Amino acid sequence: DPVVVAIDGPSGSGKSSVAKAVAAHFGYGYLDTGAMYRAVTLWCLRTGVDLADQEAVVAAAEDLPLGLGVDPTETTVELDGEDVADAIRTSEVSGVVSAVATNLGVRAVLQQAQRDLIELIADDFGGVVAEGRDITTVVAPDAAVRILLTASEAARLARRSTQLHGSADAATVAATHDEVVRRDRDDSTVSQFTQAADGVVLLDTSELDFEGSVAAAIAIVTA
Ligand code: C5P
Repeated sequence: DPVVVAIDGPSGSGKSSVAKAVAAHFGYGYLDTGAMYRAVTLWCLRTGVDLADQEAVVAAAEDLPLGLGVDPTETTVELDGEDVADAIRTSEVSGVVSAVATNLGVRAVLQQAQRDLIELIADDFGGVVAEGRDITTVVAPDAAVRILLTASEAARLARRSTQLHGSADAATVAATHDEVVRRDRDDSTVSQFTQAADGVVLLDTSELDFEGSVAAAIAIVTA
């Protein structure tokens, strides 16, 4: 049977790069569910949908012209045929994505789409690694492997700082602090990451580098 690996974690936990590397290692497909929330957000900003208009945002999510490339070695994100892989990660989107992610109607639409995608991708690749905030608990609670990737706040800030601004010196980390801590707080109305749910393996990467984190995740999948 195709293998489903579910990985959750907060921003800066290294979740996306680890999930992608694990998928590539096993030859599985890769589903980035955060990219879906980001794509809905960008589409609303571009088409003039008021993020406070809950029903209008749900309608946008239902009709989203989204194209996801799920090969982990060459992931792509397209909206209406246009490459938006970078556009969905700007601070303009990161700053308001929580407003979309706390819209329960949007969550229902995207969670169902994610369940369908997980099945399709798993059949296609023989397995799938799906990552996000609620994959181990809500989207795929029956996944064969479920991992909660965590890291200390200091480690997550340093990683985000390097990722966003190319540096982890004190001033740059301080500038990153607001964005990361605020988004975690805004997100925490729909999810919390300090404790792993029953049956979910906790992987703390605070003391691990990227290779170590990937090796630890692969060991969990293989176990
Ligand atoms: O993982 P990433 O930082 O790209 O996710 C962007 C945002 O999408 C998160 O801050 C969160 O608000 C939302 N999200 C979510 N549920 C998921 C994945 C992402 O609410 N499964």
